[in-house]
Amino acid sequence: MKCENCTKKECSKKQKNDDSQSTSVDALSSNDGFEEKNEFYALANAKILLSDCLACDNCMTSEEGARVFQQNQKELFRILNLNKKCDTSKHKVLAVSICPQSLPYFAAKFNLSVNDAARRLCGFLKSLGVHYVFDTTIAADFSILESQREFVQRYQRRNQEEHALPMFASACPGWIRYAERVLTNLVTSHICTAKSPQQIMGSLVKGYFARQQNLSPDKIFHVIVAPCYDKKLEALREDFYTALYNSQEVDCVLTSGEIVQIMEQKNVSMKDMTEVAVDSLFGEIKEGDVVRHDGKRSDGYLEHIFKHAAKELFGMDVKEITYKALKNKDFQEVTLEKDGETVLRFAAAYGFRNIQNLVLKLKKGKFLYHFVEVLACPGGCLNGKGQAQTEDGKPDKALLNQMEEVYAAIPVRLPETNMYVQKMYQDWLEGMDSSKVQETLHTKYSAVNQTASSLDIKW
Ligand code: SF4
Repeated sequence: MKCENCTKKECSKKQKNDDSQSTSVDALSSNDGFEEKNEFYALANAKILLSDCLACDNCMTSEEGARVFQQNQKELFRILNLNKKCDTSKHKVLAVSICPQSLPYFAAKFNLSVNDAARRLCGFLKSLGVHYVFDTTIAADFSILESQREFVQRYQRRNQEEHALPMFASACPGWIRYAERVLTNLVTSHICTAKSPQQIMGSLVKGYFARQQNLSPDKIFHVIVAPCYDKKLEALREDFYTALYNSQEVDCVLTSGEIVQIMEQKNVSMKDMTEVAVDSLFGEIKEGDVVRHDGKRSDGYLEHIFKHAAKELFGMDVKEITYKALKNKDFQEVTLEKDGETVLRFAAAYGFRNIQNLVLKLKKGKFLYHFVEVLACPGGCLNGKGQAQTEDGKPDKALLNQMEEVYAAIPVRLPETNMYVQKMYQDWLEGMDSSKVQETLHTKYSAVNQTASSLDIKW
């Protein structure tokens, strides 16, 4: 069956049963307009694999395809070169925000501690001409806090509102793209409305930081360093565009692997780089040691929401979460019992096969879960296709094992204890229940080009 959202051929993901499947396409064949001959020509024209992204080329319009592939190293160097020109009116403040799931890759690859890796990466980016280097952990703090509150509200409305539960996590753009394009109304109303950490970082940089620096948002060029290609598509979403300033919250996403390619092109290694403290959004204050959220391989939405809901809804303090593996290690569940009754049932479903199982249960009306942390990549974000890949496009398992160790050793900081987040809620967002919180930290997900055929998928 042909999905009408697809511009060319059958959706390759609907029939896909094997997460390791990977078909090579020349992703840039429609991108001739960007083939400027410069030192990054070879990098920008690298082949992309269908399996790099749940939203494979079949579901991208040609305009989206062109804009996704425009987000590459050439774009970063275009801005760096612009900033060297005499016409200062065209200069941009260049800000790069790094995802916490990228740092273990740099640490493990170059045999550094995660703190060294963060500072040397900052040193490298600044040596190129980047003005500010940020860590997106603060944006994940906001995203988790908003997701926690939304879950509790949905749980309380569950008997009045048909689509209140289950709630699905919204942080993975691969999953979101698939849900909106292929699964449509079956799941979109169940997706948490909190923005992903990437897009909240976009709001913080183009909103809060721009105002602190007295800059118009379009004067900042904001780059994200991320573990996957799907985040490039996410950055293009219309709801993350401000017409008044002709500005996207995130202008360009580069994968961790694309950053390493720049280093290789320049013949430098992280080990040669000077350590420079990572910037914060708050003037001269610099970031300290790297911290992470609860949860083994992701931003820990399941764990944070579970503990918060147990406390808020049932007055129970959960210190440790016990996972029960279901079909495989990427499909696990966590339950909370009170007076012999299961009052909370959460699941983590990673990878396409498990997403498929999940949706089957939903379609059959046999869905027991209140919340599911859905991630498109088996193993979670450390296994994003933009990092830790062998030359033939397979996960580099040895490197991934090291990355998991690095990530697990990073100290955990609860989002509730970040005093800057609390201060921003009060000073910038006008309180936790304000309309500004809704505008800045939330979005909406809906079926794209909903058609009879897309609703009638045979699983
Ligand atoms: S699970 Fe994979 S596709 Fe989804 S955000 Fe993480 S790295 Fe990207």
